[in-house]
Amino acid sequence: MLTGDQEKVRKINKSIILNMLRLHAPISRARVANITGLNRGTVSNIVNVLIEEGLVFEGEQKDPGIGRPAVLLGLRPDGGAVIGVEIGVDFIAVLLTNFVAETIWDTRIQIDPSQSQTSIISQAEQLIEQALFLASEHQLRPLGIGVGVAGLVHVQQGTLIMAPNLHWTNVPLRLMWNQRFHLPIYIENEANLAALGEYYFGIARNVDNFIYLSAGIGLGGGIMMGGKLFHGGHGYAGEIGHIQRDPVGEQCGCGRVGCWETQVGPRAVLNRVKKELQNHPDQFLLDTCSGDLDQLTFEMVVKFALEGNTLCRQAIEAVAVHLGTGIVDIVHVFDPELVLIGGAFIQARDILQPIIEKTIFSNVLQPYADRLRVAFSDRGANDCLFGAVAIVLDDILREMVIS
Ligand SMILES: [Zn+2]
Repeated sequence: MLTGDQEKVRKINKSIILNMLRLHAPISRARVANITGLNRGTVSNIVNVLIEEGLVFEGEQKDPGIGRPAVLLGLRPDGGAVIGVEIGVDFIAVLLTNFVAETIWDTRIQIDPSQSQTSIISQAEQLIEQALFLASEHQLRPLGIGVGVAGLVHVQQGTLIMAPNLHWTNVPLRLMWNQRFHLPIYIENEANLAALGEYYFGIARNVDNFIYLSAGIGLGGGIMMGGKLFHGGHGYAGEIGHIQRDPVGEQCGCGRVGCWETQVGPRAVLNRVKKELQNHPDQFLLDTCSGDLDQLTFEMVVKFALEGNTLCRQAIEAVAVHLGTGIVDIVHVFDPELVLIGGAFIQARDILQPIIEKTIFSNVLQPYADRLRVAFSDRGANDCLFGAVAIVLDDILREMVIS
């Protein structure tokens, strides 16, 4: 029988080996021992247990290192099923994947934010039930449910503390869904999950220090430091959209004025266009929205800017400068290797990227500029969902390494 300490060491070693397979499979037992520094006997014992548990397979394959067949290890796609959920301001999305994060099923439904909290949560529950049914049809054991929400999340309690756009406060989602689904439940802020998703599956794969910025209705941030999400004391860290950049600026949804998101979000672009139209009427734009400026959307402004409309282009360019100067401050605080931009900004990438880069690199203190790069996410609307899958895997593959 193992003592408590031995049991803990064994769990840590299991996580180390699983994570090694995630990053380097196909790989031999000997190489796992080499890279991890664990002795070969330990690696073999644990690998045998992981094979028995159905998480790892071993078979003869061509070794990419030596170029001839060898007996190599990998994670089993059918090692389990993972469910990712995103509750947005006007939609619910659910993704079902296997153990190596390959999509089995995904769905997205529109919701009306004025619906009751009970009704929205019950619709999410029905979609999760559907995902669980499909997992059992594929004979996959569900490993956990990751949930992303737009708001402040108390990560340790699994409680959604505040979701201003949904007008929800203190929703103990983990407790509710633990009782209902009898599975591990992980609740996180959507931008944090998007950052984690990029770290696992995207452009930020294995970049240990990066900042993820995402614009939607607000401006959210995810901070990855030393390969872990930076949570702060409660889990509230990362609300970079509410850094006050103009003490006499525009009113923000949070109740203060001049927050960064009032300068750079899609809403800020629209406000700029509308203001400018009052001074410089642009017949094309006025005709397009039949004189009703509320018909203009961010997507339209980006499209017209890319087609050569000067007024739209200038509005996006002005926002790009504000984005760049704000990023400079963040770089000085966190010293990241990468600033990754996602959400609605992706559509305007061709206009934003050169201006953001120029603003950053001509303003940041020189030592910070070495190795610093700016990139745009290529995951589109699914970045948070993949992060919701990643957080379940993260707990199995890596959490023990850190605790
Ligand atoms: Zn604010």
